[in-house]
Amino acid sequence: MNLILFGPPAAGKGTQAKRLVSGRGYIQLSTGDMLRAARQSGTELGQKVAAIMDSGSLVSDEIVIALIEEQLDLNPDAPGFIFDGFPRTVPQARALDEALAGRGKQVDAVIRLKVDEAALIARIEGRFAEEGRADDNPEAFKKRLVAYNEQTAPLLPIYAEQGKLKEVDGMADVDTVTASIGSVLDAAGQGGGNG
Ligand code: AMP
Repeated sequence: MNLILFGPPAAGKGTQAKRLVSGRGYIQLSTGDMLRAARQSGTELGQKVAAIMDSGSLVSDEIVIALIEEQLDLNPDAPGFIFDGFPRTVPQARALDEALAGRGKQVDAVIRLKVDEAALIARIEGRFAEEGRADDNPEAFKKRLVAYNEQTAPLLPIYAEQGKLKEVDGMADVDTVTASIGSVLDAAGQGGGNG
């Protein structure tokens, strides 16, 4: 069972992915976390993407696709993957389909966390105050929302066409969102624990 958690920055994808990991044993693949780890350990890749990330733009498809393929190969027996913050462009979505198909897998469901942009901006102000992530500053965050609307949102009709898109109210409290995601997965017969 392979799931894409879909939604704009700060919609709560990372929080929900971590809950699915502890509740259902899936493996979270967050390209944002991978890139931040690369920066923190000072690798060549980390240095290359730092300025792009801080500005709120997307790094190249090539870079994130390679990171994802590496993780798929490192975890061949995973019960399922939760893609968090990937794919973000049409070429990334195509590459994911190919990478999974080549390993006898597929994207089973895409769960969209529906959120209100004005509320997101308020949420991110709080996160910036608490965590101080450079790309959470108001200017960079606005750019991330533009990148989402222009480059990532066009994936929604593609997944809808494939019958994989499910929507969950991302404005509800964290536990309610988790429960809604769980219901969607169970209804799709992809509950992991109870099958
Ligand atoms: P995130 O934590 O997922 O919001 O990602 C933080 C930043 O990392 C983004 O604003 C991009 O600069 C970069 N990034 C993460 N995932 C991707 C992706 N799939 N494609 C391109 N850039 C990405």
